[in-house]
Amino acid sequence: MATMMKAAVFVEKNRIEVVDKPIPDVGPNDALIRITTTTICGTDVHILKGEYPVAQGLTIGHEPVGVIEKLGSAVMGYTEGQRVIAGAICPNFNSYAAQDGAPSQDGSYLIPQGLCGCHGFKATAGWRFGNLIDGTQAEYVLVPDAQANLAPIPDGLTDEQVLMCPDIMSTGFKGAENARIRIGDTVVVFAQGPIGLCATAGARLLGASTIIAVDGNDHRLDIAKKMGADLTLNFKNCDVVDEIMKITRGRGVDASIEALGTQSTFESALSVLKPGGTLSSLGVYSSDLTIPLGAFAAGLGDHRIVTALCPGGKERMRRLMNVVASGRIDLGLMVTHQFKLEDIVAAYELFSNQRDGVLKVAIKP
Ligand SMILES: [Zn+2]
Repeated sequence: MATMMKAAVFVEKNRIEVVDKPIPDVGPNDALIRITTTTICGTDVHILKGEYPVAQGLTIGHEPVGVIEKLGSAVMGYTEGQRVIAGAICPNFNSYAAQDGAPSQDGSYLIPQGLCGCHGFKATAGWRFGNLIDGTQAEYVLVPDAQANLAPIPDGLTDEQVLMCPDIMSTGFKGAENARIRIGDTVVVFAQGPIGLCATAGARLLGASTIIAVDGNDHRLDIAKKMGADLTLNFKNCDVVDEIMKITRGRGVDASIEALGTQSTFESALSVLKPGGTLSSLGVYSSDLTIPLGAFAAGLGDHRIVTALCPGGKERMRRLMNVVASGRIDLGLMVTHQFKLEDIVAAYELFSNQRDGVLKVAIKP
Protein backbone atom coordinates (compact mmCIF):
# COMPACT_ATOMS: atom_id res chain seq x y z
CA MET A 1 0.00 0.00 0.00
CA ALA A 2 1.09 3.58 -0.66
CA THR A 3 2.53 5.52 2.26
CA MET A 4 1.62 9.04 1.14
CA MET A 5 -1.71 10.65 0.30
CA LYS A 6 -3.16 13.93 -0.97
CA ALA A 7 -4.84 16.15 1.61
CA ALA A 8 -6.32 19.68 1.61
CA VAL A 9 -4.70 21.57 4.49
CA PHE A 10 -5.13 24.98 6.09
CA VAL A 11 -1.97 26.98 5.34
CA GLU A 12 -2.91 30.51 6.40
CA LYS A 13 -5.86 32.90 6.20
CA ASN A 14 -7.44 32.63 2.72
CA ARG A 15 -5.14 29.73 1.76
CA ILE A 16 -6.06 26.05 1.67
CA GLU A 17 -3.77 23.87 -0.43
CA VAL A 18 -3.55 20.25 -1.53
CA VAL A 19 -0.32 18.72 -0.19
CA ASP A 20 1.25 15.27 0.26
CA LYS A 21 0.96 13.82 3.75
CA PRO A 22 1.78 10.42 5.23
CA ILE A 23 -1.14 8.01 5.45
CA PRO A 24 -1.74 7.77 9.23
CA ASP A 25 -0.94 4.70 11.33
CA VAL A 26 -3.94 2.83 12.71
CA GLY A 27 -4.18 2.58 16.51
CA PRO A 28 -6.22 -0.13 18.26
CA ASN A 29 -9.44 1.92 18.43
CA ASP A 30 -9.11 3.58 15.02
CA ALA A 31 -10.24 2.77 11.50
CA LEU A 32 -8.53 4.03 8.37
CA ILE A 33 -11.14 5.05 5.79
CA ARG A 34 -10.39 5.52 2.11
CA ILE A 35 -12.52 8.54 1.21
CA THR A 36 -14.70 8.06 -1.85
CA THR A 37 -16.72 11.29 -1.45
CA THR A 38 -16.53 14.24 0.92
CA THR A 39 -17.74 17.83 0.79
CA ILE A 40 -17.15 21.40 1.96
CA CYS A 41 -19.16 22.86 4.84
CA GLY A 42 -19.89 26.49 5.66
CA THR A 43 -17.73 25.96 8.74
CA ASP A 44 -14.77 25.13 6.47
CA VAL A 45 -15.27 28.53 4.83
CA HIS A 46 -15.01 30.15 8.28
CA ILE A 47 -11.71 28.26 8.68
CA LEU A 48 -10.51 29.37 5.23
CA LYS A 49 -11.29 33.00 6.04
CA GLY A 50 -9.40 32.76 9.33
CA GLU A 51 -12.61 33.32 11.34
CA TYR A 52 -12.35 29.96 13.07
CA PRO A 53 -8.81 29.07 14.16
CA VAL A 54 -7.25 25.69 13.41
CA ALA A 55 -3.61 24.57 13.40
CA GLN A 56 -1.50 25.32 10.36
CA GLY A 57 -1.15 22.17 8.26
CA LEU A 58 -4.33 20.56 9.58
CA THR A 59 -6.36 18.63 7.00
CA ILE A 60 -9.79 20.29 6.71
CA GLY A 61 -13.22 18.68 6.29
CA HIS A 62 -15.57 16.69 8.50
CA GLU A 63 -18.01 14.85 6.20
CA PRO A 64 -16.66 11.39 5.31
CA VAL A 65 -18.12 8.78 2.95
CA GLY A 66 -15.77 5.92 2.14
CA VAL A 67 -14.55 2.38 2.47
CA ILE A 68 -12.81 0.75 5.45
CA GLU A 69 -9.18 0.31 4.44
CA LYS A 70 -7.83 -0.94 7.77
CA LEU A 71 -9.38 -1.65 11.15
CA GLY A 72 -7.71 -1.21 14.53
CA SER A 73 -7.17 -4.41 16.51
CA ALA A 74 -9.88 -3.55 19.07
CA VAL A 75 -12.59 -2.56 16.57
CA MET A 76 -15.17 -5.34 16.22
CA GLY A 77 -18.17 -5.94 13.99
CA TYR A 78 -16.92 -4.36 10.77
CA THR A 79 -15.01 -5.70 7.78
CA GLU A 80 -12.32 -4.14 5.66
CA GLY A 81 -13.77 -3.10 2.30
CA GLN A 82 -17.13 -2.20 3.86
CA ARG A 83 -18.74 1.11 2.78
CA VAL A 84 -19.26 3.40 5.77
CA ILE A 85 -19.83 6.93 6.92
CA ALA A 86 -18.88 8.53 10.22
CA GLY A 87 -20.49 11.56 11.80
CA ALA A 88 -18.83 14.95 11.55
CA ILE A 89 -18.81 14.77 15.32
CA CYS A 90 -16.94 11.75 16.71
CA PRO A 91 -17.34 11.49 20.48
CA ASN A 92 -15.84 8.47 22.21
CA PHE A 93 -18.95 8.21 24.40
CA ASN A 94 -16.91 7.56 27.57
CA SER A 95 -17.26 11.03 29.05
CA TYR A 96 -19.55 12.51 31.67
CA ALA A 97 -20.83 14.73 28.85
CA ALA A 98 -21.80 11.75 26.69
CA GLN A 99 -23.40 9.86 29.55
CA ASP A 100 -25.22 13.05 30.52
CA GLY A 101 -26.87 13.14 27.08
CA ALA A 102 -24.56 15.69 25.44
CA PRO A 103 -22.03 13.56 23.53
CA SER A 104 -21.15 16.35 21.09
CA GLN A 105 -19.65 18.22 24.08
CA ASP A 106 -17.37 15.27 24.89
CA GLY A 107 -14.04 16.28 26.38
CA SER A 108 -13.00 12.81 27.45
CA TYR A 109 -10.04 12.28 25.15
CA LEU A 110 -8.44 15.65 25.86
CA ILE A 111 -5.38 15.79 28.08
CA PRO A 112 -6.57 16.76 31.56
CA GLN A 113 -6.38 20.51 31.95
CA GLY A 114 -8.38 22.98 33.96
CA LEU A 115 -11.97 22.04 34.62
CA CYS A 116 -12.38 19.90 31.53
CA GLY A 117 -10.56 16.87 32.87
CA CYS A 118 -10.06 13.65 30.98
CA HIS A 119 -13.61 12.45 31.53
CA GLY A 120 -15.40 15.74 31.26
CA PHE A 121 -17.26 18.28 29.22
CA LYS A 122 -15.61 20.50 26.62
CA ALA A 123 -17.87 22.64 24.45
CA THR A 124 -17.76 21.43 20.82
CA ALA A 125 -14.94 18.94 21.54
CA GLY A 126 -16.85 16.05 19.99
CA TRP A 127 -15.96 17.82 16.74
CA ARG A 128 -12.55 16.41 15.95
CA PHE A 129 -12.26 16.02 12.13
CA GLY A 130 -10.76 19.13 10.57
CA ASN A 131 -10.81 20.89 13.94
CA LEU A 132 -8.57 19.02 16.39
CA ILE A 133 -7.39 16.13 14.21
CA ASP A 134 -6.83 15.69 10.47
CA GLY A 135 -10.10 15.79 8.54
CA THR A 136 -11.78 14.27 5.54
CA GLN A 137 -10.73 16.38 2.54
CA ALA A 138 -8.04 13.82 1.79
CA GLU A 139 -7.56 10.40 0.24
CA TYR A 140 -7.68 8.78 3.68
CA VAL A 141 -8.94 9.74 7.12
CA LEU A 142 -8.38 8.12 10.49
CA VAL A 143 -11.67 7.68 12.36
CA PRO A 144 -11.04 7.72 16.13
CA ASP A 145 -13.12 5.53 18.44
CA ALA A 146 -14.30 3.73 15.35
CA GLN A 147 -16.48 1.22 17.18
CA ALA A 148 -18.72 4.09 18.32
CA ASN A 149 -18.58 6.12 15.14
CA LEU A 150 -18.54 3.94 12.00
CA ALA A 151 -21.93 3.40 10.37
CA PRO A 152 -22.30 0.94 7.45
CA ILE A 153 -24.07 2.36 4.39
CA PRO A 154 -27.24 0.39 3.49
CA ASP A 155 -27.03 -1.46 0.16
CA GLY A 156 -28.29 0.50 -2.80
CA LEU A 157 -27.55 3.99 -1.51
CA THR A 158 -25.06 6.10 -3.45
CA ASP A 159 -22.34 8.25 -1.88
CA GLU A 160 -24.29 11.37 -2.87
CA GLN A 161 -27.45 10.11 -1.14
CA VAL A 162 -25.66 9.74 2.21
CA LEU A 163 -23.23 12.66 1.88
CA MET A 164 -25.50 14.97 3.93
CA CYS A 165 -25.83 12.50 6.83
CA PRO A 166 -22.53 13.18 8.68
CA ASP A 167 -23.27 16.88 9.23
CA ILE A 168 -25.91 18.76 7.24
CA MET A 169 -28.84 16.42 7.77
CA SER A 170 -27.85 15.58 11.34
CA THR A 171 -27.55 19.27 12.25
CA GLY A 172 -30.63 20.43 10.33
CA PHE A 173 -32.80 17.67 11.78
CA LYS A 174 -31.48 18.46 15.26
CA GLY A 175 -32.74 22.00 14.77
CA ALA A 176 -36.22 20.64 14.07
CA GLU A 177 -36.00 18.11 16.92
CA ASN A 178 -34.91 20.81 19.38
CA ALA A 179 -37.85 22.95 18.26
CA ARG A 180 -40.15 20.34 19.89
CA ILE A 181 -42.44 20.38 16.86
CA ARG A 182 -45.90 18.91 17.27
CA ILE A 183 -48.33 17.84 14.55
CA GLY A 184 -50.11 20.95 13.31
CA ASP A 185 -47.44 23.43 14.37
CA THR A 186 -46.48 26.57 12.50
CA VAL A 187 -42.70 26.79 12.16
CA VAL A 188 -40.42 29.36 10.56
CA VAL A 189 -36.90 28.52 9.41
CA PHE A 190 -34.54 31.49 9.01
CA ALA A 191 -31.97 30.94 6.21
CA GLN A 192 -32.20 28.21 3.59
CA GLY A 193 -28.60 27.19 3.11
CA PRO A 194 -27.98 23.43 3.23
CA ILE A 195 -28.59 23.20 7.00
CA GLY A 196 -31.68 25.42 6.91
CA LEU A 197 -33.07 23.29 4.06
CA CYS A 198 -32.59 20.17 6.17
CA ALA A 199 -34.26 21.90 9.12
CA THR A 200 -37.21 22.66 6.80
CA ALA A 201 -37.35 19.00 5.74
CA GLY A 202 -37.07 17.89 9.38
CA ALA A 203 -39.94 20.18 10.41
CA ARG A 204 -42.09 18.59 7.70
CA LEU A 205 -41.20 15.04 8.81
CA LEU A 206 -42.04 15.93 12.42
CA GLY A 207 -45.54 17.07 11.46
CA ALA A 208 -45.48 20.87 11.19
CA SER A 209 -48.37 21.87 8.95
CA THR A 210 -47.32 25.43 8.12
CA ILE A 211 -43.61 25.85 7.41
CA ILE A 212 -42.36 29.31 6.47
CA ALA A 213 -38.92 29.44 4.86
CA VAL A 214 -36.97 32.72 4.90
CA ASP A 215 -33.94 33.62 2.77
CA GLY A 216 -32.69 36.37 0.48
CA ASN A 217 -32.05 34.02 -2.44
CA ASP A 218 -35.05 33.03 -4.60
CA HIS A 219 -33.28 29.94 -5.95
CA ARG A 220 -32.83 28.63 -2.41
CA LEU A 221 -36.45 29.46 -1.61
CA ASP A 222 -37.54 27.35 -4.61
CA ILE A 223 -35.53 24.41 -3.24
CA ALA A 224 -37.08 25.06 0.19
CA LYS A 225 -40.51 24.40 -1.34
CA LYS A 226 -39.25 21.06 -2.66
CA MET A 227 -37.93 20.25 0.82
CA GLY A 228 -41.27 20.90 2.49
CA ALA A 229 -41.83 24.65 2.94
CA ASP A 230 -45.44 25.79 2.51
CA LEU A 231 -44.66 29.51 2.30
CA THR A 232 -41.48 31.37 1.41
CA LEU A 233 -40.42 34.92 2.28
CA ASN A 234 -37.56 36.78 0.64
CA PHE A 235 -36.33 39.26 3.26
CA LYS A 236 -35.19 41.58 0.48
CA ASN A 237 -38.80 42.09 -0.63
CA CYS A 238 -40.70 42.33 2.65
CA ASP A 239 -40.55 42.92 6.38
CA VAL A 240 -40.29 39.31 7.48
CA VAL A 241 -41.46 39.88 11.06
CA ASP A 242 -44.57 41.81 9.91
CA GLU A 243 -45.39 39.17 7.29
CA ILE A 244 -45.10 36.29 9.74
CA MET A 245 -47.26 38.05 12.30
CA LYS A 246 -49.86 38.58 9.53
CA ILE A 247 -49.68 34.93 8.46
CA THR A 248 -50.17 33.78 12.05
CA ARG A 249 -52.88 36.45 12.69
CA GLY A 250 -50.78 37.99 15.41
CA ARG A 251 -50.35 34.74 17.31
CA GLY A 252 -46.71 34.14 16.44
CA VAL A 253 -45.13 30.84 15.40
CA ASP A 254 -44.93 27.77 17.62
CA ALA A 255 -41.23 27.42 16.87
CA SER A 256 -38.52 29.34 15.04
CA ILE A 257 -35.37 27.72 13.76
CA GLU A 258 -32.34 29.98 13.24
CA ALA A 259 -29.90 28.49 10.72
CA LEU A 260 -27.44 31.29 9.96
CA GLY A 261 -25.88 32.81 13.08
CA THR A 262 -26.46 36.57 12.88
CA GLN A 263 -28.00 39.17 15.19
CA SER A 264 -30.77 39.97 12.72
CA THR A 265 -31.90 36.38 12.12
CA PHE A 266 -31.73 35.59 15.84
CA GLU A 267 -33.70 38.72 16.69
CA SER A 268 -36.34 38.01 14.03
CA ALA A 269 -36.61 34.40 15.20
CA LEU A 270 -37.36 35.64 18.73
CA SER A 271 -39.66 38.46 17.58
CA VAL A 272 -42.07 36.12 15.74
CA LEU A 273 -42.20 33.50 18.50
CA LYS A 274 -45.45 32.97 20.41
CA PRO A 275 -45.32 33.14 24.20
CA GLY A 276 -44.26 29.67 25.31
CA GLY A 277 -42.65 28.93 21.93
CA THR A 278 -39.20 27.55 21.20
CA LEU A 279 -36.32 29.27 19.42
CA SER A 280 -34.06 26.50 18.13
CA SER A 281 -30.70 27.99 17.18
CA LEU A 282 -28.31 26.22 14.80
CA GLY A 283 -26.21 29.14 13.54
CA VAL A 284 -22.51 29.59 14.26
CA TYR A 285 -22.28 33.12 15.69
CA SER A 286 -19.15 35.20 15.41
CA SER A 287 -20.02 38.09 17.73
CA ASP A 288 -22.02 38.83 20.89
CA LEU A 289 -25.80 38.65 20.63
CA THR A 290 -28.19 41.26 21.98
CA ILE A 291 -31.60 40.09 23.12
CA PRO A 292 -34.28 42.76 22.53
CA LEU A 293 -36.36 43.32 25.64
CA GLY A 294 -39.75 43.44 23.87
CA ALA A 295 -39.26 40.22 21.92
CA PHE A 296 -37.96 38.60 25.10
CA ALA A 297 -41.12 39.72 26.95
CA ALA A 298 -38.80 41.11 29.62
CA GLY A 299 -37.86 37.52 30.44
CA LEU A 300 -41.45 36.51 31.28
CA GLY A 301 -42.59 34.93 27.98
CA ASP A 302 -42.00 31.25 28.83
CA HIS A 303 -39.77 31.10 25.75
CA ARG A 304 -37.26 28.31 25.33
CA ILE A 305 -34.00 29.15 23.55
CA VAL A 306 -32.02 26.02 22.63
CA THR A 307 -28.63 25.70 20.92
CA ALA A 308 -27.10 22.66 19.26
CA LEU A 309 -23.99 21.11 17.81
CA CYS A 310 -24.42 18.38 15.20
CA PRO A 311 -25.12 14.99 16.83
CA GLY A 312 -22.74 12.20 15.83
CA GLY A 313 -22.25 8.50 16.53
CA LYS A 314 -23.17 5.35 14.64
CA GLU A 315 -26.76 5.17 15.89
CA ARG A 316 -27.52 8.73 14.77
CA MET A 317 -25.95 7.95 11.38
CA ARG A 318 -27.92 4.66 11.08
CA ARG A 319 -31.20 6.50 11.69
CA LEU A 320 -30.42 9.25 9.18
CA MET A 321 -29.43 6.77 6.47
CA ASN A 322 -32.65 4.89 7.26
CA VAL A 323 -34.62 8.05 6.50
CA VAL A 324 -32.84 8.27 3.13
CA ALA A 325 -33.26 4.54 2.38
CA SER A 326 -36.99 4.74 3.12
CA GLY A 327 -37.40 7.43 0.47
CA ARG A 328 -38.84 9.93 2.97
CA ILE A 329 -36.41 12.55 1.72
CA ASP A 330 -34.05 12.96 -1.22
CA LEU A 331 -31.00 14.99 -0.32
CA GLY A 332 -29.19 14.01 -3.51
CA LEU A 333 -30.70 17.13 -5.09
CA MET A 334 -28.59 19.25 -2.74
CA VAL A 335 -25.38 17.99 -4.36
CA THR A 336 -25.16 20.46 -7.21
CA HIS A 337 -21.50 20.24 -8.25
CA GLN A 338 -18.64 17.75 -8.34
CA PHE A 339 -14.88 18.35 -8.10
CA LYS A 340 -11.78 16.22 -7.87
CA LEU A 341 -9.84 16.61 -4.62
CA GLU A 342 -6.93 18.13 -6.53
CA ASP A 343 -9.30 20.90 -7.69
CA ILE A 344 -10.67 21.66 -4.23
CA VAL A 345 -9.36 25.24 -4.22
CA ALA A 346 -11.72 25.99 -7.13
CA ALA A 347 -14.51 24.21 -5.23
CA TYR A 348 -13.91 26.49 -2.21
CA GLU A 349 -14.04 29.51 -4.49
CA LEU A 350 -17.40 28.45 -5.97
CA PHE A 351 -18.91 27.35 -2.65
CA SER A 352 -17.81 30.31 -0.56
CA ASN A 353 -19.16 32.80 -3.10
CA GLN A 354 -22.41 30.83 -3.61
CA ARG A 355 -21.88 30.97 -7.37
CA ASP A 356 -23.82 29.05 -10.00
CA GLY A 357 -26.67 27.94 -7.73
CA VAL A 358 -24.33 25.84 -5.61
CA LEU A 359 -25.72 24.11 -2.52
CA LYS A 360 -23.18 21.34 -1.80
CA VAL A 361 -20.21 20.09 -3.76
CA ALA A 362 -19.14 16.44 -3.95
CA ILE A 363 -15.35 16.17 -3.63
CA LYS A 364 -13.88 12.95 -5.05
CA PRO A 365 -10.28 11.96 -4.26
ZN1 LIG B 1 -20.05 21.27 9.00
